Amino acid sequence: MKLAARVGKVPPSLTLAISAKAKAMKAEGIDVCSFSAGEPDFDTPEHIKAAAQKALEAGQTKYGPAAGELKLREAIAHKLKRENGLHYETENIIVTNGGKHSLFNLMLALIEPGDEVIIPAPYWLSYPEIVKLAGGEPIILTTDAQTGYKVTPEQLRQGITTKTKLFVLNSPSNPTGMVYTPAEIEALAKVIIEQDILVVSDEIYEKIIYDGAKHLSIAEVNSEIFEKTIISNGFAKAYSMTGWRIGYLAAPKELINATVKIQSHSTSNVCTFAQYGAIAALESSQDCVEEMRQAFIKRREVIYQLLNAIPGITCSQPEGAFYMFANISKIGCTSLEFCNALLTEQNVAVIPGIAFGADDHIRISYATDLVTIEKGMARLDKFVRSR
Ligand code: GLU
Repeated sequence: MKLAARVGKVPPSLTLAISAKAKAMKAEGIDVCSFSAGEPDFDTPEHIKAAAQKALEAGQTKYGPAAGELKLREAIAHKLKRENGLHYETENIIVTNGGKHSLFNLMLALIEPGDEVIIPAPYWLSYPEIVKLAGGEPIILTTDAQTGYKVTPEQLRQGITTKTKLFVLNSPSNPTGMVYTPAEIEALAKVIIEQDILVVSDEIYEKIIYDGAKHLSIAEVNSEIFEKTIISNGFAKAYSMTGWRIGYLAAPKELINATVKIQSHSTSNVCTFAQYGAIAALESSQDCVEEMRQAFIKRREVIYQLLNAIPGITCSQPEGAFYMFANISKIGCTSLEFCNALLTEQNVAVIPGIAFGADDHIRISYATDLVTIEKGMARLDKFVRSR
């Protein structure tokens, strides 16, 4: 069968492939320590599940507006006002089937063949692939531990050409966990305004932040950048709702209308009763978010100490998200070789850095319990010492 050329341009998602493999090994009875997909191990909080159950029982089982339930769009607009000081109307918001789908809608609405999209590396692995599927060209700006894995304003300026349409900003970052300071965000905003491009700000980890680091949405900097910003966010990480598949975009109306048009011909609306769970997530107490963050703080401390005690592995302390991005360059193999051997020999699943544009690293998700963290790091230690 002759498949469309676009299929050949992208690999399958390695995060999903490795976590599926780890789950299958577990199902076979193998004692696997999985640090693969960024998926909190907590169940979705009870009040969120109860709200979705109530909606299901009340008959919220029909098609809804392609843009999302009005009540959820209102709740998102209130959240953006309350927490970020941003004024959006419901027409500025689309509810999507998760963060990945938000970006997919956005790229389809915005990117034409030949358009360039600037993505700092290390990047979340789906960014470049979504750009390619939309016909655009990802332009990768490499960063490293020296600059805290952050792109500088000069680097961004140099990466911009007449073909540049969009810059992808992700803070807190998956996979590095770094968080741009408000001053750094302001400096990037200046370049974006000067060069008249757009920015998509992926803020899915905004609530998972440590050590007094502050999340500033780039849309907050001033009214000029507000008009050039597309905020992408969702419920998966902060509320442990990965399988619910609910995300959103907030942006100028013209762009949101375009994404609604596309969504109306693809997925239609997000599961109607699930959206009522998302409303409860935003409008009820945020204590559950804080409880999970406290658990991540403990896990981060433990894994950071254990990881850095392993000879040949170095890792900086992340300020956000729930990933350790560890440098393995001293081990003398590619990240894929490292991860394959680690899974085969020690039953430990981590993601090779090559997937994130950094082959000398591995990503370890610590959104898992402390027992697994301790056991997994002991196995990793044994593995590295055997090289
Ligand atoms: N965003 C998560 C991760 O990076 C979930 C898996 C995925 O969608 O790639 O692990």
